[in-house]
Amino acid sequence: MQTRTALVTGSSSGIGLACAHRLAASGMNIMLHGLEDDAFGKGLCEQFSEYPGRCAYFQADLSDVQQLEALVSQTLTHFGGLDVLVNNAGIQFTAPTEAFPPEKWDQIIAINLSAAFHTSRLCLPHFQQQGFGRIINIASVHGLVASIHKAAYCAAKHGLIGFTKVVALENAAAGITANCICPGWVDTPLLNDQIAAIAAENNSTAEQAKHDLVVAKQAYPDLIKPDAIGDMVVFLCSDAACAINGAAMPIDGAWSAQ
Ligand code: NAD
Repeated sequence: MQTRTALVTGSSSGIGLACAHRLAASGMNIMLHGLEDDAFGKGLCEQFSEYPGRCAYFQADLSDVQQLEALVSQTLTHFGGLDVLVNNAGIQFTAPTEAFPPEKWDQIIAINLSAAFHTSRLCLPHFQQQGFGRIINIASVHGLVASIHKAAYCAAKHGLIGFTKVVALENAAAGITANCICPGWVDTPLLNDQIAAIAAENNSTAEQAKHDLVVAKQAYPDLIKPDAIGDMVVFLCSDAACAINGAAMPIDGAWSAQ
């Protein structure tokens, strides 16, 4: 069987990096991506030398559509094809709605929502032509339910789930699936600011603040490991998952069950 190729946005850190490792371990070529420079990317690729497939890194700010277009075209040129698109890059900012900085709103919508539209519109013609494709969007439990102070993030993640359903419907007969994964609290640097804010407010240690953050929402009383998301991504790429389409799958420690 021909080696498949996956592009994972925001794979220089956290969930994206874990997804890239799990996909590479399953035998795929991987295009890594992040905001960091090529020297960082070279070091990152070295981590992937143990896997059977090829690996490359591309730096691009996904709020800039030209840079995003370059990422997709470079992936297609470098690997000669693309089979799996994981839209994972994302940022967070918290503030009450009336105090939410408009530029932060625009940035979150651009990176957490619009970037997935742009990468999808660029990859879909290729997927349609080959009769196979997997689009996996890393949404959030905040695509299913809301929390205070997360207006832009919740809007972007709810929007991402709606967008994914449309792509699934439009392409279901073409061997293409589009799904969202909706994680709860995952152990990544994205949570650092929120943990630091709780520690400052409660005058507690980072460990205590992490625990407080988790149990306020999740029934599972621990941070979720990034590999748990990576393993679901690998499953969604498998033939067994060909009829899982347009879904928003929680991996959220029963947060959204409440
Ligand atoms: P992270 O901060 O560890 O990684 C974010 C990645 O996105 C990095 O690779 C970074 O370079 C990239 N990125 C940020 N801004 C970018 C930009 N302008 N252009 C291109 N790339 C950019 O965060 P993470 O926790 O691994 O988050 C990954 C995804 O998972 C996000 O979409 C996030 O919303 C989602 N998520 C995270 C959690 C969690 O608890 N950590 C929970 C639910 C959903």
